[in-house]
Amino acid sequence: MPPPGGRLGPGYLTDEELKNKPKVTSALLKRIFSYLKPYTKQLCFVLAAILCSAVMTLLPSVLTGRIIDEGLIAKNMRALVLYIVLSFGVTLLANLIGILESYLNTWIAQHITFDMRNSMYAHLQKMSQRFFTTNNQGDIITRMTSDISGVQQIITNTLTSIISNAITLTVALVLMFRENWKLALVGIAVVPLFVIPTRSAGKRRWSITKESQACSDEINGILNETLSVSGQLLVKLFGMEQREYDRYEAVNRKMIGLNIKESMAGRWFRMALGTFTNIGPMLIYLVGGIIMMRFDDTVTVGQISVLVALLGKMYMPVNQLLNIQVDWIRSMAMFTRIFDYFDMKPEIENAPDAVTPESADGEVEFRNVRFYYDPEREILHDVSFKLKKGDCIAIVGPSGSGKSTLINLIPRLYDVIDGSVLFDGRDVRSLDLAFLRENIGIVSQETYLFNGTIRDNLLYAKPDATEDELIEACKQANIYEFIEKQETGLDTVVGNRGLKLSGGEKQRISIARILLKDPALMIFDEATSALDSISEQKIQDAIEPLIESRTSILIAHRLSTILAADEILVIKDGEIAERGTHQQLVGAGGVYTQLYETQFSKAAEPAKPDFDYSEGES
Ligand code: ATP
Repeated sequence: MPPPGGRLGPGYLTDEELKNKPKVTSALLKRIFSYLKPYTKQLCFVLAAILCSAVMTLLPSVLTGRIIDEGLIAKNMRALVLYIVLSFGVTLLANLIGILESYLNTWIAQHITFDMRNSMYAHLQKMSQRFFTTNNQGDIITRMTSDISGVQQIITNTLTSIISNAITLTVALVLMFRENWKLALVGIAVVPLFVIPTRSAGKRRWSITKESQACSDEINGILNETLSVSGQLLVKLFGMEQREYDRYEAVNRKMIGLNIKESMAGRWFRMALGTFTNIGPMLIYLVGGIIMMRFDDTVTVGQISVLVALLGKMYMPVNQLLNIQVDWIRSMAMFTRIFDYFDMKPEIENAPDAVTPESADGEVEFRNVRFYYDPEREILHDVSFKLKKGDCIAIVGPSGSGKSTLINLIPRLYDVIDGSVLFDGRDVRSLDLAFLRENIGIVSQETYLFNGTIRDNLLYAKPDATEDELIEACKQANIYEFIEKQETGLDTVVGNRGLKLSGGEKQRISIARILLKDPALMIFDEATSALDSISEQKIQDAIEPLIESRTSILIAHRLSTILAADEILVIKDGEIAERGTHQQLVGAGGVYTQLYETQFSKAAEPAKPDFDYSEGES
């Protein structure tokens, strides 16, 4: 893989890059060119501009010969001035065309990456929950940012460099041979002289660059880990400030050394370059001089100068073209990686004949549902139950028994492996996804708020909600009192992921958010983490009326919530172990009785915080 961040180094591939060399097929090339297709017109302009500027930048070299032979040696003032002015004009024009070319080039590259980013973002939005839980978040972001930026670099650098260098070289060679074929042959013989040393100088520099990139990745890693909100909290609580400082200082020091080395390698590189670019012309002067004085007196001083000037112009293109293979392989690898992402099929998609009913009651039925994340380990085995309109089911069970998994199947965050989940009597897989999700509201255990104001977070559920609606929802969710106390009210900033708020406050804001969404089915995944009893009471007061008035499912950890439900499902090891009302289950002597005795009865005592199965499991 190329170094992250689209940093294309000089012409050397890493061992890994060589090993993973992508297969360049015509299908791949076709696909790449399909991104260029909408910009064919602009690309033709770029091509024309490159051609013009390549020829024009070489013309002054040819004119140098005329200046010397026809102006200086012939002592012709008119010719001298004419060629100088011509030379100046051509250079100016070549540069102006160069500006136009780079503008067009950047424009095309930016538009292609714009198209690619948008379609990648839209594609990723369609990916299932499994994709996001399985893939490293950093990888996804890298794909979206630096890989796609790499594409821009390919278009502005690799592609144009191939074209413009090839043109420059061809034109330079033609001009050299036209001027004098013997001298041209000498010129070509000299080229390897300045290519070889610069390549080996570049190789050393590249190895240092790689080392310093690894070092910089390490520094970023430390910064990311220790300067994040949670990382810094951990550092503080474990008193690790000094240790982290030492770790940081050590890599930082290593980085300085590498930077100095790198900059010195650059110095040697420049020296080698300077020396050899000087030797080349000298050789042409020498050989050209010998030919002119001893063998062929038609060779002129001007011709020798033209050859020297053209040779100078050939140096860069030759070197760059030699490196092109590397850029090419990297570019192909980059495209392959991007296309790999594009080719991932969204696991959960709308059925082609998906139905969108007029309205929803929120009824749910599980019919012999089986589910696993990983075939090796089945999480839900043969789960069946039915939730009727207006009813409320409480799901209880030990931590890890599959409660959250079960509810994730309703809005199709995952699809069942066997059996079916029905929403209002229809298999969820036959319903329109947007309709399904619109009618289900989930207050999850881990409340997620976007960085922004409370208002922004509420409007996420209903962008056109009026101020009164917002306030009403907050009142119902028992959070309005808190909001009123804030200086900026609804415009209070919640901080990164809502971290400026307490767990209870976040929960109540997310309840208000669901109230605004007003779904037919409400799912409440009660937090297992301890909230103080006042906070808990406030949440309880907010959700109780909701349970009364809506079809709802509660993953319950508190007795008061359980008592409010019409039916209790006790899940153990992915199966419904028991079901019934509290009264029926409490004396039955089964799993529920055991849970009640160890957990609920304690939680029922006043002013005690909530219980958590994970803490109390025996
Ligand atoms: P808790 O009360 O602690 O939230 P739970 O009953 O809701 O637990 P689930 O979250 O449904 O339990 O998890 C059931 C099992 O599935 C657990 O053993 C868990 O490790 C596993 N699991 C959950 N999510 C995933 C996932 N995305 N990929 C693989 N396994 C998972």
